[in-house]
Amino acid sequence: MSDLETFRQQTRAWLEANVPNDIVGLPAGELEGTWGGKRATYPVPGLKTWLDVMADKGWTAPTWPTEYGGGGLDPDEAKVLTQEMRALKVPAPLIGFGLTMIGPTLLRFGNDEQKKEHLPKICRGEIRWCQGYSEPGSGSDLASLQTKAVRDGDDFVITGTKVWTSYADQADWIFALVRSNPDAPKKQEGITFILIDMDDPGVKVSPILLISGKSPFCETHFTDVRVPVENVVHKIDAGWTVAKALLGHERTMIADAFGGSGAKPRKDAGRSFLSDLAVQHVGEADGRVSDAILRDEVAAMEMDSRAFGLTVQRTKDAARAGHQPGSESSMFKVYGTELNMQRYELMVRILGPDALGWEGEGFDEADLNTTREWLRSRGNSIEGGTSEIQLNIIAKHVLGLPV
Ligand SMILES: Cc1cc2nc3c(=O)[nH]c(=O)nc-3n(C[C@H](O)[C@H](O)[C@H](O)COP(=O)(O)OP(=O)(O)OC[C@H]3O[C@@H](n4cnc5c(N)ncnc54)[C@H](O)[C@@H]3O)c2cc1C
Repeated sequence: MSDLETFRQQTRAWLEANVPNDIVGLPAGELEGTWGGKRATYPVPGLKTWLDVMADKGWTAPTWPTEYGGGGLDPDEAKVLTQEMRALKVPAPLIGFGLTMIGPTLLRFGNDEQKKEHLPKICRGEIRWCQGYSEPGSGSDLASLQTKAVRDGDDFVITGTKVWTSYADQADWIFALVRSNPDAPKKQEGITFILIDMDDPGVKVSPILLISGKSPFCETHFTDVRVPVENVVHKIDAGWTVAKALLGHERTMIADAFGGSGAKPRKDAGRSFLSDLAVQHVGEADGRVSDAILRDEVAAMEMDSRAFGLTVQRTKDAARAGHQPGSESSMFKVYGTELNMQRYELMVRILGPDALGWEGEGFDEADLNTTREWLRSRGNSIEGGTSEIQLNIIAKHVLGLPV
């Protein structure tokens, strides 16, 4: 028996002994599950147990070094672990921007103190992170950001406003871009990447209510917030390099969340989720969706989703093997998010009048959720950098076109 097969058998046995019963079958996506943090809530008690046993084992971050709370697994072992968890239909023990964005960035750019301070807390789900990049006047043109960081002894004093900060109201720490040198010759120079405790005096968060009825993001205001210089990641004024590397991780995560593993799954046997929905709302003939054109559209969507999911899986395997995401993450971001938006358009068309509900007894909760998620999906082509900006990056850095 190969070492990997032995590892699979041991992993399966360990999982079977440790998976709490009440978490089996819960949703498993990049943005669905336990986010951790000081304000964490656990809709099902087993989710907390699951987080703790997996964190003890280092398997919330399977490939991170054990000294920082990870599992020290090699890429093949990590893949086996994912496969075995999927086979048991259990969600990841922990998700969030700590694992997908700031963690990998600290592993590459952080100093030893920063890694020892922050990575174990991420692995244990103790600290939840948010991202402070965008500002009211600086989104696509991120390098024009204006949040000021003025050096005062061993601190930076930070003043400014970040916007669209996802889940800032639930986060404990924020990784932010600030302007530390307003006189630098190029706008990309003079930016510093810094870690800020959301409990620091002078940090204020105001949620923004969206059309979907939820407030997934906030405005984050900094007024004379004192942050120790030791919280700078990499070098002062050289934050743009760190910022771009983190965006590579973010875009891969978004592609996966919306187009890859986060897409509505096929059932193990029989019809897919979309086919089921179409049969339920449009009708069935000979065991298939009755409307031939709709059937064709559902099949095309399933095939595109499946092909894209496998492509993203290959990228994740490469990432587990230490490959840093580059400009190709923009291709995945565009394709995955456009695909997700098309999927929701199709779902809403399938629902027909049932998609027009907002609340009330006459409507099925699952249908209402589809309508809300359809509205949420409109942001997919904006978050993490708009589709237009990704196409510019692809033109310039992937295809080498003059722009
Ligand atoms: C759901 C969601 C979650 C988000 N979460 C976060 C977060 O956690 N943290 C964070 O910092 N930010 C977050 N954002 C903000 C996001 O990164 C910005 O909205 C995005 O970068 C676009 O910036 P903007 O909104 O200022 O639009 P603008 O930059 O003003 O763009 C407006 C329009 O102009 C187009 N455009 C601009 N420049 C060009 C160009 N050079 N070529 C072609 N077209 C161009 C854009 O494509 C867009 O259509 C989130 C956004 C959304 C929707």
